[in-house]
Amino acid sequence: MKEEEIKGILELLASPKKIAIIPHRSPDGDAMGSTLGLYHFLRKLNQQPVVIAPNEFPEFLAWLPGSEDVLIYEKNKEKVGAILQDSELIFTLDFNALHRTGEMENVLNKLTAPFIMIDHHQKPDDYALYTYSNTKFGSTCEMIYNFITFLGHKDLIDQTIATCLYTGIVTDSGSFRFPTTTSETHRVAAGLLDVGVQNGDIHNSLFDNNSYHRLQLLGRALQNMKVLPEFKTSYITLTQEELDEFHYVKGDTEGIVNYGLTIKGILFTAIFIENKEEGIIKISFRSQGSFDVNQFARNYFNGGGHINAAGGKSTISLTETVALFESILPQQNFNA
Ligand code: 5GP
Ligand code: MN
Repeated sequence: MKEEEIKGILELLASPKKIAIIPHRSPDGDAMGSTLGLYHFLRKLNQQPVVIAPNEFPEFLAWLPGSEDVLIYEKNKEKVGAILQDSELIFTLDFNALHRTGEMENVLNKLTAPFIMIDHHQKPDDYALYTYSNTKFGSTCEMIYNFITFLGHKDLIDQTIATCLYTGIVTDSGSFRFPTTTSETHRVAAGLLDVGVQNGDIHNSLFDNNSYHRLQLLGRALQNMKVLPEFKTSYITLTQEELDEFHYVKGDTEGIVNYGLTIKGILFTAIFIENKEEGIIKISFRSQGSFDVNQFARNYFNGGGHINAAGGKSTISLTETVALFESILPQQNFNA
């Protein structure tokens, strides 16, 4: 961030303000970790922050400190909408365009309070007074660590803040294995361990809390996997019926997409998940190497994300979506 931007933000924070901190819809570990990390930090600055999630966050993140304070817009639009109206400063974290908040976009569009965007997705929209956006970071949580440091308050990062930030770094980096993991990422993680992060406990909370049903659902997903060696591609489907059969709860499908890339020779994978309630097929894309799934998701499936991890959706049936997906593959270049 530039010197004068930091100065401007410090001026905004010089007096106590009502501050709304907003993650994207269907928030993941990075979205929840960054918003809650910033929330705890701003409280230490004697600010009055509130985290407002567009919709419910997954159960596997409910242990995060402060998650019990998170307001859910779609559960109480009037009350939470009024809090947004009343906010004097808005942070939007881990997303690049207001439509990523779903229906909340309409409320956000009408607010006159200044916005600060902190995000690592490609092509950020230009709605914020201050935009700290950089795709070279593997997580928004790593950026929040920098942001707090830029403001001159690194010493305020305590175990609670660090726990939130470490969580997003771990989840968005696939436990420090994705290519955006840098030596700097490890230095930030080290800084978080230095203030007391219990990394083993966080790992257990995130990954060793499976329900029996979730593992059964994973088994079905793996059984459903199709492999298309000629396109170095694999994909998984899950119908609403299958989700119901295994008593799906939010978060149960998290990470399943990654299995598709673990097959030898596969560079591109997708998971198609039917959501009858929303009338959509939610899609996640992953790639290894230079195949740009952000561009692929933008071009064909109304989505976006990063080069190696992106998402999108379709409003046609699951069968039609998969047929469309397969029909596009011959036009792609997986060798670059
Ligand atoms: P996931 O597949 O884990 O849901 O998302 C992978 C990445 O793509 C994340 O960074 C996420 O923010 C982004 N992403 C997921 N779904 C969408 C979408 O529908 N639109 C856009 N623009 N990005 C998405
Ligand atoms: Mn992220």
